Amino acid sequence: MEPLRVLELYSGIGGMHHALRESRIPAHVVAAVDVNTVANEVYKHNFPHTHLLAKTIEGISLEEFDKLSFNMILMSPPCQPFTRIGLQGDMTDPRTRSFLYILDILPRLQKLPNYILLENVKGFEVSSTRELLIQTIEACDFQYQEFLLSPSSLGIPNSRLRYFLIAKLQSEPFPFQAPGQILMEFPKIVTVEPQKYAVVDKSKLRAKRTGPRICTESSSTQCSGKDAILFKLETAEEMDRKHQQDSDVSVQMLKDFLEDGDMDQYLLAPRSLLRYALLLDIVRPTSRRSMCFTKGYGSYIEGTGSVLQTAEDVQIENIYKSLTDLPPEEKIAKLSMLKLRYFTPKEIANLHGFPPEFGFPEKTTVKQRYRLLGNSLNVHVVAELLTVLCEGWGSASEGSQCASNSRQ
Ligand code: SAH
Repeated sequence: MEPLRVLELYSGIGGMHHALRESRIPAHVVAAVDVNTVANEVYKHNFPHTHLLAKTIEGISLEEFDKLSFNMILMSPPCQPFTRIGLQGDMTDPRTRSFLYILDILPRLQKLPNYILLENVKGFEVSSTRELLIQTIEACDFQYQEFLLSPSSLGIPNSRLRYFLIAKLQSEPFPFQAPGQILMEFPKIVTVEPQKYAVVDKSKLRAKRTGPRICTESSSTQCSGKDAILFKLETAEEMDRKHQQDSDVSVQMLKDFLEDGDMDQYLLAPRSLLRYALLLDIVRPTSRRSMCFTKGYGSYIEGTGSVLQTAEDVQIENIYKSLTDLPPEEKIAKLSMLKLRYFTPKEIANLHGFPPEFGFPEKTTVKQRYRLLGNSLNVHVVAELLTVLCEGWGSASEGSQCASNSRQ
């Protein structure tokens, strides 16, 4: 059986390529395409032998696409036109143009790909662009299923709710296909092995997900936010949810994903502490959650991702309660006791499921790393979906199906 020939569009730092590797599907990336020079340097650093086209997708002709003779497309079109907090320019946003071009090209290819996987933000599912995507793949006779999934459902302590579509060129629907519905869980055929996602210390087993949530030690008071003191700008519900998440032993602790070493450069600046104290989302190494890391992480504070309290023996409630009426310098001194720091780019890569060998070229700045990771995806989530998508690939019937897809 020939390996699948994969076209990776909007390749960025290669999250899709890593997922493909993790899935162990016999496959070869015949070309990766991206216009971002910095992203491309990172991609080349990690995949020096992959044919990387540093150009716009609209700049590739139908003939050039045909020559690549691919049978799978992996793609993460720009998400800004669809973000919930953005302008939601959707089809009218110039950043959607390249994707509309792909939808225009797809039915005209000499040979349709057998498989498509697309990733985007939550919000894409209600866009007109999504409607056009569905119309296009339906007209080409693909079977498809849409999902909204977060890595937390794989036991990874990070929220990153994303839209996914998997499509396959076949007459039979997927066994789990739910027409008109967006699935919020992985189909049952996915078997997640314990330990799989332990990044730093393989001996720390990922707990099996069984039964309802269990409150762990010292959680008797923490399990209900209603009893806790609200010392930050959070609602009781938000706090309750965070405590619940931290008590969910089916999710790994953040400490499994953290780096050792001198972290001084990642400590929050005093003025950030003062200005954003009430808005920070603070987690600890023993927490089992973190907020979605966006591309503004490290540059902007609010809503861009969690920060880590590294002074674990300091009681955060006591610090916050003592702040009232203090002059700024003393407030800073108090808050500094928490030793709050940003997650490092490597730690975010770990949470995103990038393999230990993943790295950045030395010249990529820390800000650029955060930016690129913020645009990227969770490798484990995509690897699981690829496994679901290609289930049965390589079997005799599937093989003949592939052959019959040729439109020549
Ligand atoms: N999945 C990628 C990130 C995708 S973000 C990863 O794992 O890193 C979207 C990417 O699309 C960005 O890297 C951006 O540079 C690229 N892009 C946006 N418009 C493009 C176009 N018209 N042609 C090629 N690449 C484009």
